[in-house]
Amino acid sequence: MLENLEAAISAVKEKLPGMKLLENEPMAGHSSFRIGGPVRALASPSDVTGLSKLCDILKEHHVAPFILGNGTNILFPDEGLEDLFIVSTEKLQKLFLLPDGAIYAEAGVSLARVAAFAQENGLTGLEFAGGIPGTLGGGCLMNAGAYGGEMKDVVESVVYLYIPDQCMYEIENSNCAFGYRQSMFQKTPGCIILSAVLRLQEGDRQAIAERMHELGEKRREKQPLDYPSAGSAFRRPEGHFAAALIDGAGLKGYRVGDAQVSEKHAGFVVNRGSATSHDVYDLMMYVRNTVYRDTGVFLEPEIIILPPDYHLEDNGPAVSRNQIRFGG
Ligand SMILES: Cc1cc2nc3c(=O)[nH]c(=O)nc-3n(C[C@H](O)[C@H](O)[C@H](O)COP(=O)(O)OP(=O)(O)OC[C@H]3O[C@@H](n4cnc5c(N)ncnc54)[C@H](O)[C@@H]3O)c2cc1C
Repeated sequence: MLENLEAAISAVKEKLPGMKLLENEPMAGHSSFRIGGPVRALASPSDVTGLSKLCDILKEHHVAPFILGNGTNILFPDEGLEDLFIVSTEKLQKLFLLPDGAIYAEAGVSLARVAAFAQENGLTGLEFAGGIPGTLGGGCLMNAGAYGGEMKDVVESVVYLYIPDQCMYEIENSNCAFGYRQSMFQKTPGCIILSAVLRLQEGDRQAIAERMHELGEKRREKQPLDYPSAGSAFRRPEGHFAAALIDGAGLKGYRVGDAQVSEKHAGFVVNRGSATSHDVYDLMMYVRNTVYRDTGVFLEPEIIILPPDYHLEDNGPAVSRNQIRFGG
């Protein structure tokens, strides 16, 4: 496997000399948690053609890349990863109105920018996304949402590159299998979201701006935005709120190393300075086990924990650290 990755990296350097390729790049700088060791290679294709050529080389060498948006929903391991990441944010930045009034946005555009663009054009429906720090691509994959809105309410269609057959597809909202913080893109490995068309309603610019301001204030008041985090650590369990359960278990402020259950909002795990991925992981395990013991409710992580085989096991609360492989 490692030989494949090294061969792929050499081939990228030889065949795509103009492509930005960072080697052994520390992921802490690409993560809103400010946590993570070096990834073997981080590629930023300059356009879809470059992306497609890169995917060709990776396919030839049997290397499956990981797609990175703004890194606001991911816990990277301190040990680093022998992987190749493709950054979608740097170049996929087009954002404009289509003749029929819909918004066309490429995957790397930030949700905040798309929401501001909608407001400037008097389009309502995306106010909820103004404070979500991810990209359009990450937002579509996660079906990001807040304050009663979700991407599934506004996405009309999504264009993606499917690595296995190197074809581009456009699919309608109804085929995206959007659900609570999920979509078909999560379940279908090899999809790189390139762009989406968003269908909004006409509205009053001033009213939209006021609603966005109000939601921004709510965020600042309730969320620990002064510390690095990856947003809500756990998914909302059916019939409950994760933050209320964690608070009820007396865990607000609970700390493992420099990882802490936020004192402001128990649904967030924050980095108080130099938290390691192990600190965050151990804290999340402790929270999960305690909440399960106290309430019988099993919390599932919303944060994507890398590598994929290092996850909070879903076989009950008796899981201990040493049952879990870390770092491959
Ligand atoms: C302070 C804070 C507040 C937050 N508030 C909210 C909130 O209110 N609501 C909410 O839903 N989330 C929230 N989040 C979480 C996060 O911002 C969202 O999940 C966001 O959609 C992730 O986007 P991203 O670009 O950062 O994706 P990343 O974190 O980079 O990636 C997330 C997933 O998307 C995949 N991905 C990214 N781009 C692409 C692409 N182009 N093609 C295919 N796959 C891709 C990645 O492989 C990964 O699996 C918050 C996070 C923080 C730090």
